[in-house]
Amino acid sequence: MKPKQTSSAHVFIFSCPAQGHVNSMLNLAQLLALHNLHITLLNTEHIHNRLTRFSNIESLLARYPTLRFKTIPDGLPEEHPRSGKRAGEPLLSVMAHGKPFLRDILVKDRVTCLVADGFFGKLANETAEEVGVPVIHFRTIGASCFWTYFSVPNLFESGELPITGEEDMERIITTIPGMENLLRCRDLPSFCRPTREGEPVSPLLKTVVSETRQVLRTRAAILNTFDDLEDPALSQIRGRFPTVFTIGPLHQHRELRAPTATNTMKSSNNSIWEEDTSCMAWLDSQPLRSVIYVSFGSFTTMSRESLMEFWYGLVNSNRRFLWVVREDMIAAGEGKDESVPAELVEGTKERGLMVGWVPQVDVLAHKSVAAFMTHCGWNSTIESVVAGVPMICWPYFADQQVNSRLVSEYWKVGLDMKDVCDRKVVENMVNDVMVNRKEEFLQSAEKLAVLARKSVTEGGSSYINLNRLIDFIELISQ
Ligand code: UDP
Repeated sequence: MKPKQTSSAHVFIFSCPAQGHVNSMLNLAQLLALHNLHITLLNTEHIHNRLTRFSNIESLLARYPTLRFKTIPDGLPEEHPRSGKRAGEPLLSVMAHGKPFLRDILVKDRVTCLVADGFFGKLANETAEEVGVPVIHFRTIGASCFWTYFSVPNLFESGELPITGEEDMERIITTIPGMENLLRCRDLPSFCRPTREGEPVSPLLKTVVSETRQVLRTRAAILNTFDDLEDPALSQIRGRFPTVFTIGPLHQHRELRAPTATNTMKSSNNSIWEEDTSCMAWLDSQPLRSVIYVSFGSFTTMSRESLMEFWYGLVNSNRRFLWVVREDMIAAGEGKDESVPAELVEGTKERGLMVGWVPQVDVLAHKSVAAFMTHCGWNSTIESVVAGVPMICWPYFADQQVNSRLVSEYWKVGLDMKDVCDRKVVENMVNDVMVNRKEEFLQSAEKLAVLARKSVTEGGSSYINLNRLIDFIELISQ
């Protein structure tokens, strides 16, 4: 599709303050700006400052004349860490305090369409309705988890929720339409689990479900997935809510429509963490398909004990590994040592490399990488799908429990270690995915990667849907 010369549409993209969300929103912003829509990406001040520090946003501004950035405060004090165990607090704070800022901007900037992170569904809908701006929700999670959240009230009605305890975790869930018998209680989003304080479900479940259902008040929904990947859930979603644009995998879509390799300017990496690119030279020096890449995303924290189980498992597997250990990843508890043990860093050197943050999409595409040990955040999952890399899943929270089940039981591109953190299990799974069952997983992963790439090339479902989305935005902007 040829970009339009000019557009009267002014689209505001409102992102949640978290790496995975910002990543998806920035990719969408670039795809829309490429088609000459006027785009303003709204982030919190904190996220914008980190993007400015660690990502190349000047190159984006130079490249896309119709793209600009704006900020709102997240309502937290300057000294708030906004990381580690407290990384989720900015999201909740914007939900509670963001409305006057959003309202003000929507009016002053003559916005014609608000594309809001679906996690901010109620805030976006109420504000936009007040000022008469049409809203589209962009959910940065997969369709299957989106549909699971949507179906939670039915699970209570049918008696499949609440979960009664650990002994109930293997029970099969039968009443999510289109996903019957796929999930066990263990595979439902983490918010469906009983809490340590004895509540039947997490207090956050109500919020997440009601934010999800806010989609029914919008003009359309965008999902970072593709039709062949999650057809059962998508058919159900479309039955309830017809205007759904599946335009993923967004990073691949962006790369195809606006390739950075041929551009003289370095592209933005969408990162709010400082990338350690030395890992690329290290990967260059490793044999073909010999390395397991290990990363648990931007939110996951773990105890020192868990960290040591992973380390022993990796070392004992005798495979090479590249491991992202963020500086805020260890949650040892008040006053306890949260640093990575020195002997662990030292002991890694023989066959591994430990770094703070990497250019993940490039790492997954590297010829030395054979497998990905992941927390199954949706971005990581779909990035691995595009790269055709089999996964070992250790989901942490939220949608990750669902995604890891898709990996192991639906796409069959890896193994799910869910709720277990044991060095022997790590060792065995690494060897199963990299050696014993290597061909089986590789073949399924390659098939899925072909479908992913096909979806964003001309004539593919996501390619067509992006063009439809652009027309739709023009239409509702008039
Ligand atoms: N990521 C990265 N470098 C790293 C680790 C992660 O660039 O060292 C990126 C990764 O490519 C993904 C995002 O961070 O796009 C993490 O998002 P995801 O949805 O997987 O998980 P979350 O961080 O939200 O838990």
